[in-house]
Amino acid sequence: MTTSVISGKYVLGMRDGEQAVLQDHYVYVDGTRIEAVTRDAPAAGTPVVRYEHGFVMPGFVNLHAHCIRGGLFRGIPDDLEIQPYVPKLVYNVLLPLTALAAKELTPAELRAVTALGMVDLLKGGTTTVLDMWHHGQDVFFDVAREIGLRTVGAPFIMSSSNSRLGPDGYPVWDFGNDGMAQLAKSIALFKARDEGRDGLAQVAIGPHATDTCLPALLRECRRTADDLGCILTTHFAQTPQELSLLRTRYGMGAAEYARDTGLLGERVVLAHAGCATDEELAVLAGTGTHVANCAFSFAREGQNFPYARFAKAGVRTGIGTDSHGMDIIGELRVTGLLSKQLYGQAHVGTAHQLMRAGTLAGANALGRPDLGRLQAGAKADILVFDLFKPHLQPVWDPVKNLIWKGHGGDIAFSMVHGEPVVRDGKLLKADEGAIMRVAAAAARKIWSIGEGRGILPAPAAMQ
Ligand SMILES: [Zn+2]
Repeated sequence: MTTSVISGKYVLGMRDGEQAVLQDHYVYVDGTRIEAVTRDAPAAGTPVVRYEHGFVMPGFVNLHAHCIRGGLFRGIPDDLEIQPYVPKLVYNVLLPLTALAAKELTPAELRAVTALGMVDLLKGGTTTVLDMWHHGQDVFFDVAREIGLRTVGAPFIMSSSNSRLGPDGYPVWDFGNDGMAQLAKSIALFKARDEGRDGLAQVAIGPHATDTCLPALLRECRRTADDLGCILTTHFAQTPQELSLLRTRYGMGAAEYARDTGLLGERVVLAHAGCATDEELAVLAGTGTHVANCAFSFAREGQNFPYARFAKAGVRTGIGTDSHGMDIIGELRVTGLLSKQLYGQAHVGTAHQLMRAGTLAGANALGRPDLGRLQAGAKADILVFDLFKPHLQPVWDPVKNLIWKGHGGDIAFSMVHGEPVVRDGKLLKADEGAIMRVAAAAARKIWSIGEGRGILPAPAAMQ
């Protein structure tokens, strides 16, 4: 039975398995699912959400994020003079700050910080996120349910939580048995919280990275993911240091190591893969392994890992925001522009390719043919952008307007799992102001402890 109908001037529907812009169509919703996408007008009395200049499209699927870190680290990694950038930033600043947060945040503060990242995601257009956080922060699923965000949660599993950067610039770990205990926690979490496709929450297996997990742990993670029938996700080929560490420690390249430890295949999502060689990308493509491209995070460090490099190699490529912010349209725009820069061509990294990457490819990577598309039987995860804005008029192609000129502030309405979550810019299921106030105070508390311990410099603007 139809529970609501959504319509706008344009609808991004499906035709012959491909995305297509349809004019003056209606999206019929029945409970949590889409019943039909059709020109047929609804019967009188049916509740209709109608935006005259609306662009109705599927919610974005964000394939790699850390929404708890998003708020905690806001502004910290930007413009920082640390070279070589990534390892020192991660091991000297971000991981110590994360550890501080795990110790010092009260449950209410952790909830608010988590909620802040999720509200940021939702108001940016993400309706499904594959997110990695630390065990002990499992409030994640409760907060997501409260706000109305669809999640696949993959708590970190590491061979050691005790990592630091050694004097030679390589990360050093005190490896112990932490990893197996963390894997056991992930299995317990899966049993307790995974709701399958019919629910809002799923659990994935998330070994942290190729350099923070020992091979035996990675293999056990893969076996577990196969047993549970869930996604496995990890960080892969993020830095040259990681690759040379694999070479030194195991005598293998990144793809070879991934093959050896079970990190390849259609049920695997590798975050980044930016340092993989062309030959290694061919291995990922040949095995159907998915990559979560997060170009913005790396671009701010001066590295160019654009979408088109992976797509051209035939790799199944979705898009994630990582933790610099949760703005998926901004992420698509950055990776599109970097793609054009890399190849010196305007017709790579097109708006339509990026739209598919941000919706269909992300959903496919999660093994969810019922997400990322507007068609009968798919989940009712729906966005309506109001195109009657000075920066979005006139409209020749709504997909181009949205990707190159739009932002989350243009969302007029959004629905997840058949339930409205944002209307006219307002979050419907939680108090956004209260979340921001508590989360900001919590982040400032962590920063000030971090400054006191020499992890963080005092911000120049505040002196
Ligand atoms: Zn990440």
